[in-house]
Amino acid sequence: MQAASSLIFWVPPVFALVAILSAWLYYAARDEQTRKSYGQGQLYRCANCGRIYVEHRQVPMARCPGCDHLNEAPLR
Ligand SMILES: [Zn+2]
Repeated sequence: MQAASSLIFWVPPVFALVAILSAWLYYAARDEQTRKSYGQGQLYRCANCGRIYVEHRQVPMARCPGCDHLNEAPLR
């Protein structure tokens, strides 16, 4: 019964590892979602074409990727 007794030793650490990994993945996914919706980026709506886009740099004006119109006043 060599296999069964060694199983007892490596199953709990693997279980713990899987639990930690899934928790880490869960928080990473949640964090990613939070970053997407609130973001370090700013939401802009183009005054010219109405397109909504995200500017990740902290700049007072952001150029619309659709029509090159410069927009200020990010949406909140
Ligand atoms: Zn535009």
